[in-house]
Amino acid sequence: MRNLLKTAAFFLLISAGLNTTAQTRKAVFIIADGIPADVIEKLNTPNLKLIAKQGTYLRAHVGGEKGGYSQTPTISANGYNSLLTATWVNKHNVWGNDIKAPNYNYWNIFRMFKNSYPNKKTAVFSSWTDNRTKLIGDRLSAAGNIHPDFAYDGYELDTVKFPHDKAGNYMHLIDEQVAAAAADCIKDKAPDLSWVYLEYTDDMGHKYGDSPQYYDAIEKMDAQVGKIWAAIQYRKQHFKEDWLIFITTDHGRDEATGKNHGGQSTRQRSTWMVTSYRPLNNYAKFYTPGIVDITPSINSFLNVKVPEAQQREMDGISLIGPLSVAEPAANYVQGLLDITWKALDPKGSVKVWVAADNTFKEGKADDYKLLATVPVTNEHVLVDVKNMPSKFYKIVIEGLNNTANRWVVLDEKK
Ligand SMILES: [Zn+2]
Repeated sequence: MRNLLKTAAFFLLISAGLNTTAQTRKAVFIIADGIPADVIEKLNTPNLKLIAKQGTYLRAHVGGEKGGYSQTPTISANGYNSLLTATWVNKHNVWGNDIKAPNYNYWNIFRMFKNSYPNKKTAVFSSWTDNRTKLIGDRLSAAGNIHPDFAYDGYELDTVKFPHDKAGNYMHLIDEQVAAAAADCIKDKAPDLSWVYLEYTDDMGHKYGDSPQYYDAIEKMDAQVGKIWAAIQYRKQHFKEDWLIFITTDHGRDEATGKNHGGQSTRQRSTWMVTSYRPLNNYAKFYTPGIVDITPSINSFLNVKVPEAQQREMDGISLIGPLSVAEPAANYVQGLLDITWKALDPKGSVKVWVAADNTFKEGKADDYKLLATVPVTNEHVLVDVKNMPSKFYKIVIEGLNNTANRWVVLDEKK
């Protein structure tokens, strides 16, 4: 008996020891600009393939719901901010690359991360400064006064080091600088959350369309991803760290020439993502994820606690970890809301919350009413909203593991 107790105590010690030596989780996401799924799939991209072999390659989409309230132009900054905030343009309000009036009430991934882990480190690597100053909102009080701990950007403005040649090769050299800075910083300082932005692919796409020059730019991007991946491998070998990487793109290109984007054609909406993570959940398996799903996935991996009011706004669904609900839909019928979802786990109930106004967008609390609690497996509920008459409803479907949301905009109805 005494020996048994000793053995039990020994194993307790061992497991306590394991807990204290748990690996620190860190994440990197890379946006490679303007590459539709059909192109990335046919080219020679050994580094992306290496990462996908360990993890997963998925086709994905941008552009919100085509023809719906969340339809989002397939433009660069719109796409980056959909990734960063896990919302579409109807919420984050970045309609073009001039980034006129982002609605910072919808928090970005860096603000969520710093809110959860004030002492952990973040980094951004980019040709554009706007990604940091306007989208992340570096040191802006409206954006929560957050500040990336490491920032390597603004190279586009450095015409001495990177003289702007007609062929546009300078942008490749800038991306080389961005990738080298990211690889060095990850290797030496290991920021907990990093964003790397690579631009050259889109420049060559605009200039030459589907062409050898454009394809060459994509293969160069793949090599840059390889350098960053090698830095991550170095950290994994030498430190007790568990790293997650996502590589994706912000939009596709037009079918006819490959020179343009911005519209809602299938190829402009058709994107992809590569991640080192495996196994992804059933949502990733059975549905086509959107760019808005990356931030919730990184949050799941890093165990970022997002405040409930923010959680209720996020349009993305995590590809990592347990889920309850996905694919929310709602229709207004004569004073009733016909609400549906897909149950990804049979356990528990969903609470259905409805607000008849959107005061969140002005930074205020929404007035949600709990209108139904039903088993998640029902996958539908009809709720009466006759005593809250409105032209607009926000619906939150709250399951055990996650929350999905949906708007009903009656003015759009014919
Ligand atoms: Zn772009």
